[in-house]
Amino acid sequence: MTPLLQVADLSKLFVARRDVIGRPTATVKAVDGVSFDLAAGETLALVGESGCGKSTVGRLLLRLIEPSGGAIRFDGQDVLSTGNSGARRLRRDVQLIFQDPYASLNPRMTVGDILGEPLLLHDVVPPDRRRERVAELLTTVGLRPDYHRRYPHEFSGGQRQRIAIARALAVEPKLIVCDEPVSALDVSIRAQVLNLLRDLQQRLGLAYLFISHDLAVVKHIATRVAVMYLGRIVEMGDAGQVFAEPRHPYTRALLSAIPVPAPGARQDRRILQGDVPSPIAPPPGCHLHTRCPHAVDRCRVERPPLDLGDGHGVACHLWRQLPPAGEALPRELAPNPTLEKLQAAFVRRTEEVI
Ligand code: SF4
Repeated sequence: MTPLLQVADLSKLFVARRDVIGRPTATVKAVDGVSFDLAAGETLALVGESGCGKSTVGRLLLRLIEPSGGAIRFDGQDVLSTGNSGARRLRRDVQLIFQDPYASLNPRMTVGDILGEPLLLHDVVPPDRRRERVAELLTTVGLRPDYHRRYPHEFSGGQRQRIAIARALAVEPKLIVCDEPVSALDVSIRAQVLNLLRDLQQRLGLAYLFISHDLAVVKHIATRVAVMYLGRIVEMGDAGQVFAEPRHPYTRALLSAIPVPAPGARQDRRILQGDVPSPIAPPPGCHLHTRCPHAVDRCRVERPPLDLGDGHGVACHLWRQLPPAGEALPRELAPNPTLEKLQAAFVRRTEEVI
């Protein structure tokens, strides 16, 4: 079956500096040869530290910005070569939920107008059914139908994110790009919104591209995971496989930073040395070589391809020779017992509510 979304060799270059007459003197390759597929009803999580290019991928898919290279096919159609009618259809089929529910809703519009606007723009239902459809949407996301008269400031953060989800659902999309949708919410509210997204997926067959820096959250919602570092995907596979047997040193470092929800449990932290390099001048070869404890000369000159042979891909020259994921590495940083206790309590609470 053809995947709902096919992304091939996608790249995006931003101009970082210009000279006095406006010519570019420095560029940032925010997205560098990213390829993935997404099936209907599936959740692919794009994860990585901030600045790795994951949100840029989401914006490229919606054509909010134009790519510098590569191809995007949605539902069998070449997204980048479609005219106005194709772009209009794409904007109906692919919706975006932002991180900040406070900023993403117009404070001067009532909830009824916020949800009614996309119904009007895309002519989803006849005018005499709009009020009824707004009430249905509010009920679908767990809000009272009579909230349509209220303004965004009258709601809590979680309720506003539910309104943002209802707005995305208004046009009956096939794919929702969720850009850090729960990062700005409290832990208990976060779990409720994640559960709502999962329920909606089961009921409506939605596909999600779930963009997040938080692997603990991703673990609860993703079917597949793609890990990004400095604009490239370094590991991709089924969520269960990636979490149980991470192959790339960067994924292992990210996973080892998730606190274990058991007081006193020992954790082998795999701390990467140094800071994330500047995206204006990323290191040649494997971008991680300046921080990777396993780097060899080859890593400094040759870019490792993402080999998807068995469906669990990894972009590392040495992944077959690395010690198994569970094996302890030398501790570069002694754990702080007080901090670990607090983190464990935090994670336990998250898991209880999820
Ligand atoms: Fe580390 Fe080399 Fe693998 Fe890159 S290719 S992750 S530097 S071992």
